[in-house]
Amino acid sequence: MFAFGIKTGIIFSVSLARICTHQPGSEVNNNRKIETFHLATFGCQMNLADSSTLTATLTSRGYRRVDDESRADLLILNTCSVREKAERRVIGRLWDIQRHKHQRPHVKVAVVGCMAQRLGKQLIALVPHVDYVLGTDRLFELPDVIEGKEDTSPVMTAFGHENMDVITPARETSFSAFVTIVRGCDNNCTYCIVPHVRGSERAHSADHIVDSVRRLVDEGIVEVVLLGQNVNSYRHRDTDFPRLLRRVASETDIERIRFMTSHPKDLSRRLVDVMADEPSIMPHIHLPLQSGANRILQKMGRGYTVEHFEGIVEYIRRGLDYVSLTTDLIVGFPSETAEEYESTLAAVRRLQFDAAFMFRYSVRPGTVAADYEDDVPETEKVRRLKRLIELQQEIGRQRNQREVGQVRYGLIEGTSRRSVDYLRARTEGNKIVLFKAGEAEAGRIIPIGVTSADAFTLHGDVAEVRS
Ligand code: SF4
Repeated sequence: MFAFGIKTGIIFSVSLARICTHQPGSEVNNNRKIETFHLATFGCQMNLADSSTLTATLTSRGYRRVDDESRADLLILNTCSVREKAERRVIGRLWDIQRHKHQRPHVKVAVVGCMAQRLGKQLIALVPHVDYVLGTDRLFELPDVIEGKEDTSPVMTAFGHENMDVITPARETSFSAFVTIVRGCDNNCTYCIVPHVRGSERAHSADHIVDSVRRLVDEGIVEVVLLGQNVNSYRHRDTDFPRLLRRVASETDIERIRFMTSHPKDLSRRLVDVMADEPSIMPHIHLPLQSGANRILQKMGRGYTVEHFEGIVEYIRRGLDYVSLTTDLIVGFPSETAEEYESTLAAVRRLQFDAAFMFRYSVRPGTVAADYEDDVPETEKVRRLKRLIELQQEIGRQRNQREVGQVRYGLIEGTSRRSVDYLRARTEGNKIVLFKAGEAEAGRIIPIGVTSADAFTLHGDVAEVRS
């Protein structure tokens, strides 16, 4: 009933437009040509990267991006399915957009990315004013779809259609860019929807990646972030991830190379050796532990033990003079006992991460874990998460305190979000440092003496340049 009522509303508004808003020089309003688009991105860096690539694809075809969605002829939502909350936000946004369509009936709505992949046609049944649904493998075909090119349709979710070498790298800012090196994931973590919505792994060729970085350097980019769900399993012909990193570092003039995300079961010691040799590879590794209990890791399908993880961390810390390690942790996974949770706390104390993303488990329909009994009560999950966050914040504060008195090289990103009197830069270890400065352009790398630190941020002053 509800869906029918909404649909009726759209038809009504279209009719009104036909009567009232014919524009000279264009077709009837609801058939007006698409000239401008607005793109909203939900979720992770992979989505940000896809959004930038999609923007480049659309602008190269003559469409103009606008920040104000009320001026856009095409509204694009690049979506995330990792958590139910992320999907609920998209649905909420789509209902808001419906009002917008009432006022400007020619506006088209495209939902692309993970949620489009997961729901396909069901999305249009759920939110009837959505015009296009393009999954993770098809979103770059959006210009063809809106132009009604042959072999396209408003709903496209089949995998296996990408031309990997035409997918361009994506600028995050005028000085930093994402370069996707591998799409999809071949792992089967039982709680994760990503392999279902992003498909199996497809790697870009090393030549394509190196050429892309060179081009970005020519355009003024100083930092690239090499992206993949699991960068360590990158392989294209005889090039694995350590070799790829070596090539990017030695065959281009890029000043800073970052990468994410790493997987503990695939991270090779050769990666650490390459990082130690190549100063342009930043000493930061995001290495998700998820749990400190082996039985839970096995139930999560992670493919490593806590002991293996600790062995890697030891090798990393021994091999690199300075490194910052961050992680992901989940509490309250099905059947996690109080003792197993304590093992996670103990592992966090031993491993001394610089920072962590911490979550309480929530069921994702379609995953293997959705069939497990979600038997840790919500109140207990909240309690476990709170204690874990408190512990990690204290460790993070202590780790940051160790930076005080050091000179770190910060890539200036802009002004502090809290005060325009301070600039914000990102250190080699991916930590935010705030410092007072006069004029300093975003994109410059400058030495900063760290003077104080809290759990999340470093503070400092511009230091003398070292010779
Ligand atoms: S490695 Fe595991 S958690 Fe990461 S994207 Fe793949 S399945 Fe999901």
